[in-house]
Amino acid sequence: MTIFTKIINGEIPCNKVLENDNFLAFHDINPKAPIHILIIPKTEYKCFQDVDPEIMCEMTKFIHEVAKLLGLDENGYRLITNNGENGGQEVLHLHFHLLGGAKLSWNHLSDSDSKNFI
Ligand code: AMP
Repeated sequence: MTIFTKIINGEIPCNKVLENDNFLAFHDINPKAPIHILIIPKTEYKCFQDVDPEIMCEMTKFIHEVAKLLGLDENGYRLITNNGENGGQEVLHLHFHLLGGAKLSWNHLSDSDSKNFI
């Protein structure tokens, strides 16, 4: 069981933004942007690669709702899911990072040597 399942079950508190029967959105404990929300399905999927594509349709609607609720839909936001070890995933329960509230930089390669990727 991951920490996110404990949050879903109410065993660990979270700063909730929105919830329905299938999904939960809450503030990331270590924000990387002025607004940093985690959006998770209540069903346990280890990562994006494992998710039932049918779920993504409903999850997309929920993410849109969260973005609107926080006023991010007009000026934009970044949506990220880290998938597996090389993707930098730490919590093995599918989640999307919704980042916004400022113009975000794009420096995800800054800690690597981009020349080595070619
Ligand atoms: P990832 O590296 O994609 O697996 O991201 C996991 C995210 O979960 C990180 O951004 C953490 O800051 C966040 N996180 C871990 N524990 C908690 C928690 N108890 N409440 C809110 N966010 C958390």
